[in-house]
Formats: sequence, C-alpha cells, structure tokens
Amino acid sequence: MRYVHLPRLLSIAMPAFAFAVSGLFGSNVEAQGGIRLRQPFAGTYRLTAYVDHRSPDYTYDGNVVVYNGEERLNCPDCGEAWTNQGTYCYDGHNATDYALPGNTPVLAAASGRVTFSGWRSTYYGNSIRIDHGNGYETWYSHLAAFSVNLNDIVATGQQIGLSGNTGQNQPYHLHFEVRHNGDVTDPFGWQGNWSDPLPSGLAVCLWGDGQCFEIVVEDESDWFYKYGTGWDWDCRGNGWTMRRVANRQTSESAYARWRPDLPHTGPYAVFAFVPAVHATTTNAEYVVHDRDGDHPVLINQLNYSDEWVYLGSYNFWDGILGYVYLDNATGEANGSGEVCFDSIKFRQFRVYIPIALKNYP
Ligand SMILES: [Zn+2]
Repeated sequence: MRYVHLPRLLSIAMPAFAFAVSGLFGSNVEAQGGIRLRQPFAGTYRLTAYVDHRSPDYTYDGNVVVYNGEERLNCPDCGEAWTNQGTYCYDGHNATDYALPGNTPVLAAASGRVTFSGWRSTYYGNSIRIDHGNGYETWYSHLAAFSVNLNDIVATGQQIGLSGNTGQNQPYHLHFEVRHNGDVTDPFGWQGNWSDPLPSGLAVCLWGDGQCFEIVVEDESDWFYKYGTGWDWDCRGNGWTMRRVANRQTSESAYARWRPDLPHTGPYAVFAFVPAVHATTTNAEYVVHDRDGDHPVLINQLNYSDEWVYLGSYNFWDGILGYVYLDNATGEANGSGEVCFDSIKFRQFRVYIPIALKNYP
C-alpha cells in the first residue's frame, strides 16, 4: 500500500475528511483510495429515488435527506402506491433508482470482479454485485437477466445484465447501490451546508462524468418557486415529480423560477429536463437571467422524451441572483397543450474542478 503522509492529528480526528481531501486532490483518485463511476446505463433516464442520508436502512422516519442537503417530505403528492406508475420514491432508501424500462442494458459503473450474481432477496430480486477494490462495491437490482457470471472480471461500461422488475412488486427500474467497506454511501456525495447525516460518514461524489459539479434544482426543491393558478403535477418527472400547466395563447396565468444558490461567479451550462409525458407545448420559452440580462430560449418540449435539453451557457453571480424562468404563455391556442416544469441543472465549468479531477473525462 502506498504510504501517504498526513498530519497525525488530522488522520486521527477526521479520517472521513482526510479521505475526501485525498480523493479530491490526489494525483490519481483511484490510487488514493477513491473510485470513479459512470452511469450504469447508456442514454438518459429519469432519476427516481435518491439515497436517504438520514435513514438509509429502510427505517421510515417521514422524510428523505438528499445529497444536496435538502430535507424533503417522503414522496410529496405521489404517495407510496407502487402501482401508481412512476412512483419509486420513498423514505429510507439506500441507493439511487433510475427509471429504466424492462430489458434495457445495465452497464458496469466501473471495472471490477463480479462477487454476486443471482437472487438477492424477495425485496431486491435478481442482483449483481461488483467489487471495484478500495473498499467499493456496486449493486444492480431488480434485473430481468444476467450477462455475467460469478467471478467474471468486467470492464467499465460492459453490459452485465438487463433491467427488470424482479423482487417485490414494483415498476420497472434499476436500483443502483454503492457501498464502501460494506456501508451504504452516496455516489452524489454530500453538498449540504450541515454535517452529513449518513451513518457511515461523509459521502464523497464518485461520478467521473461531471455530475459532481452540477446543481440540480427540482420542482420539489426549496429553490423552485411557482406562482399563479392551474398547477397540476405528475409522478413521472425527474427526481420525484414534475409540475404542469395548460398553456395559454397570450398572458400567462402561471409561472415559475428555478433559483439556485450558486457557489461561484462565472460561467455555467444550463439544462432543462423535459419528461416523456405531459410536455406537449411546442413553444416553451425558458428565460435565463444572468449578469448580462435576460436570455429567452425556445424549446419544443414535444420533441423530447425524458431528456436533458441544453439551454446554453451563461455568466451567473454567486448566490441566488441568477435564475431560469418559465411561464405558460406559449402563443398556442388556450389549452391546446401543457407546459412542463421539471428539473433544471446548472453545471459548473471545469475551471472550478479540483485539478486531480480535471484529468477525468
Ligand atoms: Zn431502489
């Protein structure tokens, strides 16, 4: 094992912090004890449930603490009825769920060795576990089929199985679980401005694709503000829900803002998630408000299906001054379609990324 010199006090008092620092600033993240993951599928699917940092052991305590520090009620609006299509979110979750339809290829999130391939339990159904070294393992559950066998060595991105709905009666989805030294951890890390309540300690962002540098504002977020009338919702959005309003030809009757608390002044790439359902306006006018003023971006929501749509790159202030605005005045005949309001994400430019991670694709 490579010797890493650390101040003795730091290594004793704050092992989790020392790990995080070495993971971020070491010359090689993996050699330093970290790991770099890719998404366990190709393309874009809705993220439908997060790791609950407060009770990742299926204890029901009435709320979910998300990696960004938000404390949300358990499944607002959607209830817990798994037969209500698209409702995957729940209290006490120990993994990240993605809405993969059945028989979608599931890919290894990193290279490693298959240490479990079979029926995990009546809850998880068919599952695969991969050991990546450095104490990290990933689980893939509810699979319909296996493409690998026990003890196989797999490469990052290699197909390991097909998604399904095996296990407890539930909709099709992929349950993607990451463990470190056997404990639940969160590949999104911890961005809250309070201490990480995850019992296993500080989670470190493990994504190698830029997700570590994104601020996602969902329509359940404290940073999402909606006004006016006619609002409805659906459980088939990114995160948990989406909001929707019938369109109007001229003056708007409803509008909303996504207004994040940004960590830096400077450029961000902005994306809007457009769900597969209800997003039927051909003329959604997002307005991005940055240091240079207002920038309208017309998006034909009908063209997109559970996809992140690039709205451009903009120069924001740090703090809460910048935002994205959308209303339901689309120029189309009243009630001829619906305007969908789902997640918006702000991706920091690589200038802010720690040097060690800039080398990653
Ligand atoms: Zn799950």
